[in-house]
Amino acid sequence: MKKELSMIDLLLEIHLGLEREGPGSPEMTVKALSFIDHLDKISRVADLGCGSGGQTMVLAQNIAGSIVGVDQFPEFINKLNKNAQKLNLGERVSGIVGSMENLTFQKEEFDLIWSEGAIDGIGFEMGLNHWNGFLKKNGYVAVTCPSWFTDERPAEIEKFWSDAGCGLDTIGHNISIMQKAGYIPVAAFALPEKCWDNYFIPRAAVDKAVLEKYPGDKTVEDYVESDRYEMELYSKYNQYYGYVFYIGKKIMI
Ligand code: SAH
Repeated sequence: MKKELSMIDLLLEIHLGLEREGPGSPEMTVKALSFIDHLDKISRVADLGCGSGGQTMVLAQNIAGSIVGVDQFPEFINKLNKNAQKLNLGERVSGIVGSMENLTFQKEEFDLIWSEGAIDGIGFEMGLNHWNGFLKKNGYVAVTCPSWFTDERPAEIEKFWSDAGCGLDTIGHNISIMQKAGYIPVAAFALPEKCWDNYFIPRAAVDKAVLEKYPGDKTVEDYVESDRYEMELYSKYNQYYGYVFYIGKKIMI
């Protein structure tokens, strides 16, 4: 009998076929990096929820220090490590399997903690609080997180995000959370719509390919339908929400 495809197998198959696992772009990674000073050859950077490492390579190509990527899925980490070798970045870039809510690094080990499209999985506040202790004096955090642009939103889009298990906050609220978690908010900027195209267009193509590969598979059909709905909602409500880069500098008192 044919083995049924589990949700995790499917998620990995779809995402391993993509260059990135969330909205973003090399240009926005570089823009966020431009707010961060004091990085040099001996700097240590952690990229948490790195996925298969699209942004990790961009970081490595734009800074001199070493980067460790952390993700819960070994399949993503393998892809990251292979790509680092291919790009001759293997000496400065490595990926390890781990949990971003239970980091096993030394206290005050990092000059910079990076995280694109992942912190909402553990909660913006929880993540910023936990990661603070792993930053050196004057260290920085730079994260993207989906955020509301307006104080009120149509019920349909509110429901979508709350059903997804991550209630969003407004940019103002997140900045205040960042400050309370022990960082000086240095910059916050919304990612342009193009960053969503970078994610949604390849994802729609991979979705189409898996539908053809697994005809009649209900797990695949439901997954692809939920992706389609997410994309439809974004094009309908993109004035109300988007991904925002938040950059903060650790407060040392
Ligand atoms: N930064 C990448 C991936 C974003 S998708 C990009 O922008 O393309 C979010 C990633 O976070 C996934 O790869 C997922 O496996 C990882 N993740 C989610 N929760 C995690 C946790 N608690 N610990 C480690 N990784 C986690």
